[in-house]
Amino acid sequence: MDISTQQNPVRILFVEDEPKLGASVRKELIEQGFDVDLAYDGRIGESLFKSGEYDLILLDINLPHINGLELCRRFREVNRDVPILMLTALGELDDKMEAFSAGADDYLVKPFHLRELLARLKVFMKRRQLNQQFEEKLTISDLEIDFSAKSVTRAGKAINLTAKEF
Ligand code: CA
Repeated sequence: MDISTQQNPVRILFVEDEPKLGASVRKELIEQGFDVDLAYDGRIGESLFKSGEYDLILLDINLPHINGLELCRRFREVNRDVPILMLTALGELDDKMEAFSAGADDYLVKPFHLRELLARLKVFMKRRQLNQQFEEKLTISDLEIDFSAKSVTRAGKAINLTAKEF
């Protein structure tokens, strides 16, 4: 799957207080076709999160005002599903499980290669695409169930069902 050819760009919220790292990763991700909002501290990160809809969150841990673990917990309270990838400097996490118990899906240790970050992003995006396909349509042999249209077809022919039967 090529992320950059998707019609709707994947929206990423990136919370990172190191300006150089933040700007360079953002630039690279934009070149790869992502839409990236960059926040330089936890407070800005939280207000962006509340005002926008993001497909994925990239979260540094050691941040001014609100740290990444706390932000992660707050994000999870309002959104169970958005993938959250933590970025951590070596030794920043006392226990790797801390990130997961805060609700993160994965973490990357800094310094990381952009290639590695992109590989992780692709995994999340693929999972998202599969989930969406599953939510929309379910196919069992020649039976196709379309949840959004609430219709069932068998071998291409529509089967009339009442809402209850569906
Ligand atoms: Ca930091």
